[in-house]
Amino acid sequence: MAKLEFQTEVNQLLQLIIHSLYSHQEIFLRELVSNASDALDKLKYLTLTEEPYKSLAFEPRIDLDLDEDKRTLTISDTGIGMNQEDLVAHLGTIARSGTKNFLSSLSGDAKRDSNLIGQFGVGFYSAFMVADKVEVISRKAGEETAWKWTSDGKTGFEIEEAERAVPGTTVTLFFNDEGKDYANSYKLREIIKKYSNHIAFPIFLTADKSDWDEEEKKSVKKRSTEQINSASAMWKRSKTELKDEDYKELYKTISGDWEEPLFWFHTKAEGTMEYTTLFYVPAKAPMDMYQADYKPGVKLYVKRVFITDDSKELMPGYLRFLRGIIDSEDLPLNVSREILQQNKILSNIRTASVKKVLAELKTVADTKPEDYLKFIEQYNRPMKEGLYGDFANREALLDLVRVKSTKADGFTSLADVKSRMQEGQKGIYYIMGGASSVLRTSPLLEIYKKKDIEVIIFDDEIDEIVFTGIEKYQDIELKAVNKTSTGEDLKDESAPDKSEDLKPLLEKIKGVLGDAVKDVRASVRLADSPSCIVSDEDEPSMKMQQMLRAMGQTQFPSMKPVLEINPDHEIVKKLEAATDDALINDASWLLLEQALLIEGVPVENPGLFVQRLNRVLSRAV
Ligand code: ADP
Repeated sequence: MAKLEFQTEVNQLLQLIIHSLYSHQEIFLRELVSNASDALDKLKYLTLTEEPYKSLAFEPRIDLDLDEDKRTLTISDTGIGMNQEDLVAHLGTIARSGTKNFLSSLSGDAKRDSNLIGQFGVGFYSAFMVADKVEVISRKAGEETAWKWTSDGKTGFEIEEAERAVPGTTVTLFFNDEGKDYANSYKLREIIKKYSNHIAFPIFLTADKSDWDEEEKKSVKKRSTEQINSASAMWKRSKTELKDEDYKELYKTISGDWEEPLFWFHTKAEGTMEYTTLFYVPAKAPMDMYQADYKPGVKLYVKRVFITDDSKELMPGYLRFLRGIIDSEDLPLNVSREILQQNKILSNIRTASVKKVLAELKTVADTKPEDYLKFIEQYNRPMKEGLYGDFANREALLDLVRVKSTKADGFTSLADVKSRMQEGQKGIYYIMGGASSVLRTSPLLEIYKKKDIEVIIFDDEIDEIVFTGIEKYQDIELKAVNKTSTGEDLKDESAPDKSEDLKPLLEKIKGVLGDAVKDVRASVRLADSPSCIVSDEDEPSMKMQQMLRAMGQTQFPSMKPVLEINPDHEIVKKLEAATDDALINDASWLLLEQALLIEGVPVENPGLFVQRLNRVLSRAV
């Protein structure tokens, strides 16, 4: 007999499960049944596609066997099974780095952590919430030897050789005091109905049943075995037959999430291609969806046979938060996982499914704005990723993403921004690069406020990457307010051009600032501020340059801003009349430096800045 210790993370996970999931103890059964079902899926696939498994007698089933007196429950399956190495690797370590990261991110706040872990799927170890000993006897399909794994869930486990008549796995739980309530056949039935009714394989329960014995004239206990789930591929049934409850139940079975989904889209395609899809949007974005080893949640079935849930090819990356099922009638069963990538049928299903999901989301947005807001609160970002990566659906995605703006309290749509455009407005304007509170006070917005023109506030980091590449919404140009060209849009043809009068001062300032700026110009976009910086059309903004440098990109040449001066501002008017060169010098730098600061770009030499400021202040006080 070999004694082995759990990997440190397993201990951590065990502790966490036992201490933070006490109000959700019953999920241990869902987890174990779902493991059994996965094991059956895997073997079923092999028996349909590969020698020597094709000749195996495969009778897929899951058996629960309850001994109320001994307080034990066994969960057996006739699935793929595990050999010695598998047992050590799967039931002694945690392989996925996502789980490890997740563990290290925990706060120690039990309530919060238990919500997080609920989204994560706790797996096999949840058995130790209700049992003080767990025994696993398993035999791998195609092998003769069986192995027994035993553990008290404390420090480690033992492994020894054992016997099992057919391949598969038997998990025996020895209930502890916390778990003794589960040694009850009604309770087990109820939990299976709740979480595992739609598991595609039959689940049987063997337990004592009270029966009236005619001869002895009293009630006696008899062993009886009954199927306790419906075991149908529920997604194959027609929508009209299905109730919301059915959908929610299946969702909980396949996702391991205990919250209800936000919404679901069930589609049956018939005709040249025959397939069924059922996609769910989880109420909360999966917490590991931004990690590299994130596992997408859509499963591929062929004619109700599970093929894989591990393919990134099933749906585009930005829709990786979806859970659900694609079941094709046309793919060959033995389609290999590698071939999936180039498979024409699958890529057609995928294209149609993406279109369908986006169209359904649009319907939600149009008809149930409150529900849609919940969606946006979780998934605005992945939808923006789609704008970047899914060129074919850009139009649809532009209608689905939501933005902040100077005229909306929360989120608003581009369609709404468009509908609020003013007569003669030359484009939809946006400001980006920084926190919303900073952007909202930018001097660049002054003229828009004055003219009552709405400006979109792009304050999400991803906006810079996504929206600088998008030129239009429908037929309307999207324009950044910090570009020199957008100044042209704002010129009032009837007003006198002040740049001629300002020329002498502009020349002086240019002389003072030299290489620090690309140009100094009279501004049409300022009302209350004396100056601002803008960039030429094809150049990244100062803020963007700063971000790129922070990300380690230093190879691009540093581009200078254009400084714009407000001809109507008091400081500027006084400067036009000033003759003191030292003062003009200080003021020129201060006009540039304050414009940089207000955009969130640090001044190059804070010491010099403060000296100038103090010189000017001391003249004023
Ligand atoms: P998960 O199911 O999320 O991978 P678990 O902790 O529940 O995590 O299980 C870990 C691994 O142990 C599974 O991925 C599987 O390889 C193996 N396993 C668990 N239960 C069974 C079973 N009944 N039959 C075969 N393998 C199993």
